[in-house]
Amino acid sequence: MEHSLDPGLYIVATPIGNLGDITMRAVDVLRGVEAVACEDTRVTGKLMHHLGFKTRLIRYDDHAGEGDRERLLALMAEHPVALVSDAGTPLISDPGYRLVREARERGIAVTSLPGPSAAVVGMTLSGLPNDRFLFAGFLPNKAKAREDVLAELGAVRATLIFYETAPRLDAALTAIATHLPGREVSVARELTKKFEECRTGRPEDIAAHYAAHPPKGEIVLMIAPPS
Ligand code: SAM
Repeated sequence: MEHSLDPGLYIVATPIGNLGDITMRAVDVLRGVEAVACEDTRVTGKLMHHLGFKTRLIRYDDHAGEGDRERLLALMAEHPVALVSDAGTPLISDPGYRLVREARERGIAVTSLPGPSAAVVGMTLSGLPNDRFLFAGFLPNKAKAREDVLAELGAVRATLIFYETAPRLDAALTAIATHLPGREVSVARELTKKFEECRTGRPEDIAAHYAAHPPKGEIVLMIAPPS
């Protein structure tokens, strides 16, 4: 296939809910590449269906091995190849860093098309100080490991940003109230979607709200810096 795009790896951010958030450049690249490496071909297939074209999809997820990576690297040495995740910016708590690293080491051109990332959208909505923030991925599920992370990062003079899931929110809020007393939190949920909401306040109060109204969907949890 003839391409107007140069060979290489194109890291392409996709929407985190509202499909209107895809950029014009992302559409051009996803349409113009030889193949799109994605976590889940069904999820990316739906996005392409919405956009009205069908580019070849290649699965590249957390379970991808050396062989999968080699095949992709060989392809992008000769052709333009995009990398997307299920939602948001690839590599931000999503697979891809080994691919980028090896592509760069081999002299393959790598470029990144900016777009939504839940951490940044949550941060902008929270009303918490944003001159310094630290994104720390998912809080661990196990109580002891979660406490250790809170103890380690609690002293950092920055707003802390975590990804969280609805079933684990209550345990996370309780741990913050216990181990970082007096710190405000912000819970940003279902960002860019119909039921988007953001609540900022004492973790005890937010936990009480969600005990009465069990949360659904995807969550960004933020903790205010130490005062
Ligand atoms: N790479 C993605 C990004 O740039 O935002 C994040 C991928 S990570 C595997 C998925 C987590 O991101 C979810 O569990 C949730 O914490 C957060 N997330 C993704 N979409 C979200 C949304 N629309 N609203 C709130 N949080 C979201």
